[in-house]
Parts: sequence; structure tokens; C-alpha cells
Amino acid sequence: MKILLVEDEKSIADFIKKGLSEEYYTVDSASNGDDGLSLALVNRYDLVILDVMLPGISGIELCRRIRKEGIATPVMMLTARDTVRDKVAGLDSGADDYITKPFSFEEFLARVRALTRRTRDVVVELRCGSLLIDPLARRVTVGNREISLRPKEYSILHFLVVNKGRVLSRTRIMENVWGYDFDPGTNVVDVHMKALRDKLGEASAAGFIRSVRGAGYVIDEPPELPGS
Ligand code: CA
Repeated sequence: MKILLVEDEKSIADFIKKGLSEEYYTVDSASNGDDGLSLALVNRYDLVILDVMLPGISGIELCRRIRKEGIATPVMMLTARDTVRDKVAGLDSGADDYITKPFSFEEFLARVRALTRRTRDVVVELRCGSLLIDPLARRVTVGNREISLRPKEYSILHFLVVNKGRVLSRTRIMENVWGYDFDPGTNVVDVHMKALRDKLGEASAAGFIRSVRGAGYVIDEPPELPGS
């Protein structure tokens, strides 16, 4: 699940980002309306969270613009004022929900879940050979054995399986799993990939993930065994 957060108040942005990352969401963030709009137009998100008062274009204007472009991604507004007028303006611009600051993270998360449920309901189990991912429970099994993964390892595996058979570059993996704010010089993908492969390798001698020299990583569907 990939979320775009547009919030200029750094402490709130950091709080939300940290909390969502712990819940396995990938978060891109922008601190002004114009950067937020560019990200929303270029990338595909499962949810967009917009502060109303932003430098550059406002959250309301941003929401209006993405709806005008035909982007139907659920939008949640963060509003500082609990007035009927603000709520109406937000909903009129095409937002699906709003939450008034300050809010408890628990309530915020419940709303995030509700808004992303529509997308999630259509997600079925993902399979690659004997590897099975249940995206709702975030459960990974190989054969009947459950593999315990850390959030980033899970996100990498999920991304690979969704793109089964396609070679994914480190940059694409970074963008998808770590979000927009990453250091391109880092070897964090390789480090996590190694941990992930070790964990999967323990469960199956076959090894699932292949590295393609100079290109990236790919997960292949194993060939069907005769008679299976
Ligand atoms: Ca603000």
C-alpha cells in the first residue's frame, strides 16, 4: 500500500510517516501543495492524505486538481479547524474523508484502513510456486511454513511477486518500498534482499529470488512439476 502525504508541519508529517511505516505502508511525502500535486499526478497511490493549509496550492485545490485529472484515489483531508464550512469545502473538492487536528493515531489509522479497504478487498492471495502471500493478514508462507518478515522485507517480497517474472531495478524497488525520499547511493535494497533470501532459503532449497547482474532482481514462477 502506497500513500502520499502532503503536510507542511514537519512534526505532524514525521509522526504520520513513522506510524504508517510501522503499519507496513509506504509513504511518499511533500511539504507543499505544488510538490504534492506533481507526485500525485506522476505516481499511483492507494491513498492521498492532504493537509488543508499548505504553502503553494491548498489541500482543497490539490484535491480538486487531481479529481479533474480523473484520479480516483481515496483522499483524506487533515483539517485544523473543526468547522462545517471547512468540511464541506473539503468534501466538495472530492475528498472522501477528513480528520481534525489534533487526532489520535489510532483513529487516524482506522480511517486509513477504511479508505484503503476498497482497494484491499479486491486483493486476493498472491502466489508464486509454493510461496503464498496473504496481503490482508500480511502473512507469508512457503509450503505450510510461515515466514516471519520485517516490514520492509515483506514490502520487497510483495512488490516482486506482484511483478512476477519482471526484472525490477534497485531504484524501482527503492521508490516503491522506501518511497520518494531515498538516498540513491545506499545499498539498503541489497541488505534487505539478502535477509529476505536467507529467510526464504531456510524454508526452501529452491531459492526464489534471482539477481540479474547490472539490472536488479526478479522473482520467477517455478516451472510446473510433471504430474503436479
Ligand atoms: Ca498546514
